Amino acid sequence: MRRILIVGAGQAGLQLALSLHAEDINVTLISARTPDEIRNGWPLSTQAMFEPALALERAYRLNLWESQTPPLAGLHMTLRQPGEPATVHIRAPLESPGRSTDQRVKMAGWLQLCQERGVNVRYRAVNAHDLARLARSGDYDLTVVAAGKGEFARLFERDPARSPFTEPQRALAAVYVHGLQPDPGWPDSHVASHTVTGLGELFLIPALAAAGPCDILFWSAVPGSPLDQWAAEPGQLDPSTHLARTLALIRTYLPDVYQQRCTTVELADARASLHGRYVPTVRRPVAALPGGGFALGIGDVILANDPATGQGANTAARAAAHYLHAIVGRGEQPFDAAWAAETAEAFWTSHGRSVTNWTNLMLRPTPHVQHLLHAAAQNPATARRLAAGFADPVTLDDWFTTPGPAHHYLASLPGRPVTCP
Ligand SMILES: Cc1cc2nc3c(=O)[nH]c(=O)nc-3n(C[C@H](O)[C@H](O)[C@H](O)COP(=O)(O)OP(=O)(O)OC[C@H]3O[C@@H](n4cnc5c(N)ncnc54)[C@H](O)[C@@H]3O)c2cc1C
Repeated sequence: MRRILIVGAGQAGLQLALSLHAEDINVTLISARTPDEIRNGWPLSTQAMFEPALALERAYRLNLWESQTPPLAGLHMTLRQPGEPATVHIRAPLESPGRSTDQRVKMAGWLQLCQERGVNVRYRAVNAHDLARLARSGDYDLTVVAAGKGEFARLFERDPARSPFTEPQRALAAVYVHGLQPDPGWPDSHVASHTVTGLGELFLIPALAAAGPCDILFWSAVPGSPLDQWAAEPGQLDPSTHLARTLALIRTYLPDVYQQRCTTVELADARASLHGRYVPTVRRPVAALPGGGFALGIGDVILANDPATGQGANTAARAAAHYLHAIVGRGEQPFDAAWAAETAEAFWTSHGRSVTNWTNLMLRPTPHVQHLLHAAAQNPATARRLAAGFADPVTLDDWFTTPGPAHHYLASLPGRPVTCP
């Protein structure tokens, strides 16, 4: 039986561990935190996931919260200049609902599921030397690192050709709340995204947390802009202060959204907020370990895009499925570094590249993006196609991500040419 070591118990590590175990592969999973520590900790994400990624979880009976998590019917996007009402409204329904299950609930639950299903779980934080020792021990045929964007990522070399940024592109500030009123323009539960041109975006995301259904208010602020109110405190901010700042910014920059939806909002739990920023970075997927051997990276540790397009957890889920098939398909052949590099490169080519290019584009939208968004506001079919791109960003390559195909698409639309104010 093949023996796989996985370090890191997030979307990528846990999904890979549970699905490998279901395929009769011996898995050892190292988690820095216990289920209780995760469950009682600070939020980790806003984690909106779309049907193709949810289906990958369902295939291994990991969809434990599906019936309780509010369905996301689509995306309601608005665009406005600072101090002005929205001039663009896009209502983009999804073909199948997305869902956001608080990763504190989900990862704690999946860790317990690992124990119930017989995955070997060890609770400890490992460092590069521990990892090298474990990889050399002869106990494992393959070492996979799924440790997210933290210190461990440095083990993997930055890929400059695939990483255009050297600074964070957004300051991220999310808070879980109760009492958000439904969107009067679209009462079904959905993700709302309000762009204030040049300053950033507010996302409103229905979710399931430990206390039940809730919503997430998530500011994504251009660093140094007036929306960037989280720069001074690198540590954890008191959630009440965080919520007060969030609401004050909504009142100032999105007064209609504040009046319609936010007047009865309160914190969902005592540790309801997170804030931070990071440089979107693609890393080389295979790291040489001190003293010999190698580790294969998966998820954020090697592909950390900005959450602007809500793709990181979706991409981690797809990567886990891709690695699962590659590991199972390897049969009894050795897992060497060449195989590891090919496996990761195939994921980059088939999915990671499309997500990365689209996400980086949305951080600094070019004129063709403005035209496409106006087209989506004016044509329901374009809006549906845009929503489908959130579910599968590879479909955006043909018409959205680069100017040539975008202009071709715009020219093909029936009726009057798309107008931008
Ligand atoms: C504010 C914000 C909003 C987001 N919103 C969305 C969204 O709406 N949709 C979406 O798809 N994605 C979203 N993302 C991105 C998404 O959360 C991540 O891409 C995804 O969770 C990455 O999963 P992962 O398994 O690679 O890493 P992680 O989820 O970070 O998991 C890594 C795990 O490794 C563990 N670990 C770290 N170091 C060690 C160590 N030394 N030893 C042992 N264990 C260790 C950690 O404790 C953690 O459990 C968002 C991210 C942020 C920051």
